[in-house]
Amino acid sequence: MAVYKIIEVGNKILREHAKPVPKITPNILKLLDNMAETMYSAKGVGMAAPQVGVLKRVITVDAGDGLIGLINPEILKFEGQETDSEGCLSVPGTIGDVVRAAEVEVRGLDRSGKECIIRAGGLKARALQHEIDHLDGILFIDRARNIKKI
Ligand code: ZN
Repeated sequence: MAVYKIIEVGNKILREHAKPVPKITPNILKLLDNMAETMYSAKGVGMAAPQVGVLKRVITVDAGDGLIGLINPEILKFEGQETDSEGCLSVPGTIGDVVRAAEVEVRGLDRSGKECIIRAGGLKARALQHEIDHLDGILFIDRARNIKKI
């Protein structure tokens, strides 16, 4: 496994739309493994492929209850609303308050290509929404209020 360099705000890759993955290949599995490694080494809760310069719809999330790797994720349901402080590995030293759905239902493919549905609340729901935003070129600072440097 390898740790990727994380791309930071200002790089236009972060503003592009990532493409769906048509087929799960060894390269996609390697991408998932390396993204997880990069996320853990940076002490992040989630990571999206565009953050490491790969414009594919792949995310990893670990909100403290185990690693999720999802390919072509999409949010099927948003429920409730919650405001919390958020940051991003691609926007270092910055936090802001973001309103997100309190619970989401997300569909995607796991690493074996099987469709899975994830229902999540709290930090996990927030991380999933944040990472899926990255796939559409959206950064948390676009949605945040009270943006602060830390
Ligand atoms: Zn982010």
